[in-house]
Amino acid sequence: ASPAVVRTAVVTGAGSQRGIGRATAHRLAAAGYEIAVLDLDEAAAKEAAAEIAERHGVRALGVRCDVTDRASVDSAVTEVEGALAPIGALVNNAGITDPSRFLDIEPHVWRKIFAVNVDGTYHVTQRIAGGMVERGFGRIVNLSSVSAQRGGGVFGGSHYSAAKGAVLGLTRAVARELGGTGVTVNAVAPGLIDTDITGGALVGEQRASVLSTIPAGRAGSADDVAVTIAFLCTPEAEYLTGTTVDINGGSHIH
Ligand code: NAD
Repeated sequence: ASPAVVRTAVVTGAGSQRGIGRATAHRLAAAGYEIAVLDLDEAAAKEAAAEIAERHGVRALGVRCDVTDRASVDSAVTEVEGALAPIGALVNNAGITDPSRFLDIEPHVWRKIFAVNVDGTYHVTQRIAGGMVERGFGRIVNLSSVSAQRGGGVFGGSHYSAAKGAVLGLTRAVARELGGTGVTVNAVAPGLIDTDITGGALVGEQRASVLSTIPAGRAGSADDVAVTIAFLCTPEAEYLTGTTVDINGGSHIH
């Protein structure tokens, strides 16, 4: 039998230790992908890559990258292309949230939420998808949120809902455009996942009241999201494109 094709998975925002990106990078490495961690936090990106290489015995590279900055994205991806196998998967995971109420959202906060969650997904996808089309294989997974579907309700405000809604539209339109090229584009919409994205701000009664609405009876773990993303990145998932997979313990059944 011929050896399996080795490909690289790029995961943005996988520096965060308890984050969805880190757990996803581990799942993808376990599935045989080489891993590129692109994160604003350079030390965290490098530490994540070292942990992944050690645990799974695959090549991994951590690179500083600001997904909101086209030049930064271009130089980080160029570095990855020079060091690792051809890119076969991209997980647009880098994201930020903010709990401001609509009437209080300041324009610079609105812009920042869109810059990371939406512009970032655009910049990184555009830089990487062309090569995937040329090679006839690609798996792109974008991080949306239950917030996009039900209008907030966990932590993020309306700017976060709007940005994650934009991610869904982008996912569907790019999936349609790239149909038939071997490149699939899907989104996941996690509910409440235990990570550090809220900076410890979702606690006490507020957390208890969110938990009480989850049929599964618990918050999700980063790995609950990672297993689904890793599945969408398998070659076998080729007939799934433009979909949104809900990962919310039943808190939003629609
Ligand atoms: P996290 O805060 O643990 O990790 C986010 C990572 O993104 C960090 O490593 C951070 O350094 C990086 N990052 C931020 N801005 C960046 C930029 N400009 N360029 C590059 N990297 C940048 O967050 P998480 O909870 O693991 O969330 C991951 C994704 O999942 C986000 O897109 C988030 O919106 C989405 N999501 C999270 C939840 C949840 O409950 N945790 C729910 C739904 C969706």
